[in-house]
Amino acid sequence: MILDIKNVVKDYKLSRNNKFRALNGINLNFESGQLVSIIGESGSGKSTLMNVIGGLDNDYQGDILLDKVSVHNQSEKELDKYRKNKIGFVFQSFNLIPHLKVLDNITVAMTLSNVKKSERIKRAKKILKDVGLKDQMYKKPNQLSGGEQQRVAIARALINNPDIILADEPTGSLDSETSEQILDLIKIIANQGKLVIMVTHSEKVAEYSDRVITISDGLIIKDEKKMNEKKMIIGEEKINTGKQNLSFKDAVGMALKNMKEKIGRNLLVSIGASIGITSVIIMLSIGNGVGKYMTNTMNEYVNPNAVEVHQLSEENDQTDSPGGIMTTESKPFEQANIDELTKIKNVDKVELAYSKLSFRGNVAKIGDKESSFQNLSTVSSNITSENITAGTKPNAGEVMLSANLASELDDNIIGKTIDVEFLIGETAFSESFKVSGIFGDIAQNGMNDFSTVFINYADLTSLAKTKDVVVKPNTVYLVTDNQDNVKTIKDKVLALGYTGSMEERLLGMFTEMLAVVTYILAAIAAISLVVSAIMILVVMYISVVERTREIGVLKAIGARRKDIKRIFVAESFLIGLVSGLFGLMVAVLLMFAINAVTRNQFSVDLVIISGSYALFAILVSVGISVLAGLAPASKAAKLDPVESLRRE
Ligand code: ADP
Ligand code: MG
Repeated sequence: MILDIKNVVKDYKLSRNNKFRALNGINLNFESGQLVSIIGESGSGKSTLMNVIGGLDNDYQGDILLDKVSVHNQSEKELDKYRKNKIGFVFQSFNLIPHLKVLDNITVAMTLSNVKKSERIKRAKKILKDVGLKDQMYKKPNQLSGGEQQRVAIARALINNPDIILADEPTGSLDSETSEQILDLIKIIANQGKLVIMVTHSEKVAEYSDRVITISDGLIIKDEKKMNEKKMIIGEEKINTGKQNLSFKDAVGMALKNMKEKIGRNLLVSIGASIGITSVIIMLSIGNGVGKYMTNTMNEYVNPNAVEVHQLSEENDQTDSPGGIMTTESKPFEQANIDELTKIKNVDKVELAYSKLSFRGNVAKIGDKESSFQNLSTVSSNITSENITAGTKPNAGEVMLSANLASELDDNIIGKTIDVEFLIGETAFSESFKVSGIFGDIAQNGMNDFSTVFINYADLTSLAKTKDVVVKPNTVYLVTDNQDNVKTIKDKVLALGYTGSMEERLLGMFTEMLAVVTYILAAIAAISLVVSAIMILVVMYISVVERTREIGVLKAIGARRKDIKRIFVAESFLIGLVSGLFGLMVAVLLMFAINAVTRNQFSVDLVIISGSYALFAILVSVGISVLAGLAPASKAAKLDPVESLRRE
């Protein structure tokens, strides 16, 4: 391996027109197995040179060639690879990642190269043994002495088996005894065939070297080679990995370790962010619950396979009731209407029906008991056996009574004959019928509170005929065998200008209002999501600032921008996931609590969290969090490693 430094000039930009020349044309050649010391006054450009050689700083003139290949003119990707695989950095202040165990501090460089976990640990343990720290690997850096920390840093520099070790004042923070141990270790490394370039202040340290280069004001003023016995060069195999990327799984793993360090803060943020998620889920789910309740109540009353059709006239027949209540009656259907409806696709049967509300002239009698009723209605397929609490639907010559009417007359009325007086149009009729059954129950206080007599349509029309009254149906039922067709039939009915049942119309209006209210409430709740996003953003920025140095270290050991970004995005992803799950959990608990109350009071589940809401909530939470984390992650990724490392 040969490293050529060709006429390197480095200017630090101070302001727009002001720069400071730290390296003033450096020319040097190095080869494997050398231990090179660079000495010089403080400020002479030693660290600058190291950063340039190490690829941490690529903003210079001239060139650096590794085995005749330019390092300077490479893509960022190649430069990252160069730092990761060719260079090992050792710093004066060790620069270990404080929250990682010794073992993890060393494996981190391999994690960035996507080496298998078992392989990482195996290698790290071996190297720790080589540097004499076998027993310290589960300690955190602050539990080690300075010398031990520097050994860890050396182990980390060696882990990817680089060709070049750059040590910037590796003994600068150590006492003389420890310094000597570290220098011995460095010497062994050079003897193993690596090029070690070491910056030092002391002439004494320089004695260990094969070559001493003196730098002053950015220029090489002396380059002394000492005669040394030829080194035995032991080539160590390189670990070869296919894709040298930080995997998402490892990024999440690293993020988890980082987050554990600030577990309280991260949990608080997650909980804070989860409040918005919980509120949004609950709002949507209440809307869902109320809507479902309405639809179910409705379906309890009608056969879902029978589509009720009405025709509303511009001015509806409005009948003044004696009590001053206005009632409406649908416009009667003509044959042309019925033909049109019959033609709708998938309609298997068309049933004609008639119902009339009137508040005078309708009386049902049995023995000496009598009761007035308001509604005369024919029986159609819309009435299902579930609606019939006792007995059966009426056959010819029979009627069915609503529960409230039946209770007025006789507790045991089924099978008995009653006299019924009623109006069809304005004509009065009086007939006897056998009671076949009872519709609904009183307790249920359903949608149809009027006392009702149900009669067969055929009975009604033939009765009317006897007094020359023509009955025109005012309700039509379109019956289908397959419930899947109901929706399209309903749509077609509406498209033809008819309307559905009154209940359906009310339900339709109600559902629309409910949807609007639900979304408004959910949107208000969503404002807290914006607050969450800002909160996460702030915390992530703080995290970036706190870890600037760590980011510098990661870059020095070969992390690409992408990797750094990935670690931070993984963190915000985790915050989002935790807050989403937590928010969902609280929402589910709230659901149980609220439903326990409403079920007890109204036999209704008010809050119904659907699977799609749950999924939506988690996705929104993760999405918002990752979005909020993107800017801080980019900031972290863009940090200049040289400056990050200089930061105390
Ligand atoms: P040393 O030999 O002590 O390691 P450095 O390489 O750190 O010296 O610095 C060489 C010169 O460059 C010094 O005069 C220093 O002030 C200057 N310098 C270093 N970094 C910067 C920077 N980011 N901006 C401007 N000047 C810098
Ligand atoms: Mg320096």
